[in-house]
Amino acid sequence: MSKRDFYEVLGVERGASEAEIKKAYRRLAMKYHPDRNPDDKDADDKFKEATAAYEVLSDAQKRQAYDQFGHAGIDPQMGGAGQGGAGFSDIFGDVFSDFFGGGAGRSRGGPQRGSDLRYTIEISLEEAVRGTTVEIRVPTLAECKTCDGSGAKKGTSPSTCSTCQGVGQIRMQQGFFAVQQTCPRCHGSGQTITDPCQTCRGQGRVEETKTLSVKVPAGVDVGDRIRLSGEGEAGVQGGPAGDLYVVVNVKAHDFFERDGRNLHCEVPISIVDAALGGELEVPTLDGRVKLKIPEGTQTGKLFRLRGKGVTPVRGGGVGDLICRVVVETPVSLNKRQRELLEELRETLKDNSHSPKAKGWFDGMKRFFGDK
Ligand SMILES: [Zn+2]
Ligand SMILES: [Zn+2]
Repeated sequence: MSKRDFYEVLGVERGASEAEIKKAYRRLAMKYHPDRNPDDKDADDKFKEATAAYEVLSDAQKRQAYDQFGHAGIDPQMGGAGQGGAGFSDIFGDVFSDFFGGGAGRSRGGPQRGSDLRYTIEISLEEAVRGTTVEIRVPTLAECKTCDGSGAKKGTSPSTCSTCQGVGQIRMQQGFFAVQQTCPRCHGSGQTITDPCQTCRGQGRVEETKTLSVKVPAGVDVGDRIRLSGEGEAGVQGGPAGDLYVVVNVKAHDFFERDGRNLHCEVPISIVDAALGGELEVPTLDGRVKLKIPEGTQTGKLFRLRGKGVTPVRGGGVGDLICRVVVETPVSLNKRQRELLEELRETLKDNSHSPKAKGWFDGMKRFFGDK
């Protein structure tokens, strides 16, 4: 093989950065890799040439010697293609690790933990506050009971893979170098099933809808997750099962809106109760309580009923029920009611009975500069 200029081989400038050199080599190596070009002498030569160039140009010291003395500056033991010892496998691992899926640690075979599952339940506010038990049906992958998850037909067991002798990895000798690959026969598990279980077709897991009873603790809120350890998908080849996460959703309530430990509600009151004061019944989560309205109550006033809120699931004490009063204008009045209100209107003319309106009218007068 004639010695071409290493920079020319990789197709990079003389001042190319380490990253550029690596990128250029990677591109060539993928193109001419013997795995992709079986029995192609030309590709094999090109691959070796690129590898030799990369080996030198990726090493600062060798690169400097090469820049100064050319091919003569390179130790023939190191520079010659096909001689690559330890140095070469380093390069190989570095450049190819992400391309060929890496070494044994990342193989896809062998025992694997089952996937986690997520299931959303919808409960009422009362159930969330008091706690409840919910029955759910979860589609999942369960361990095959026929073969106890082994995938092998009853009475048989998986045998050691003859291709990799149970290692799960094979070394492929390609010309002058060796590639470590996940065994294509057993996909890294080291075992093969000669007689697959009929129920799961050798998978060791079957689709199943599991019925589970979920205990929902008192005080849960929207978005809380309840973890059921080991109730996710069954593991593969003896791996542990995944977990099931039950996510809580709480339906909207007719009266109450929850905000952490407090409950909020809106209470409509008549203009009469608002003006004269009164007592009315307010719903709570466990019954009803009397709420005293003082005279002269305006819309928007908040009344706090201590201890009538929620005790959060993580503890910290019970919250309050906060009632917001809305004064309601009467509708569908009869003749008598109208007369009474007309009479009332006459007596309320001077605005001194409407603090807000008074302030508003005074402000308006100032705004228009009325004398
Ligand atoms: Zn089975
Ligand atoms: Zn194998």
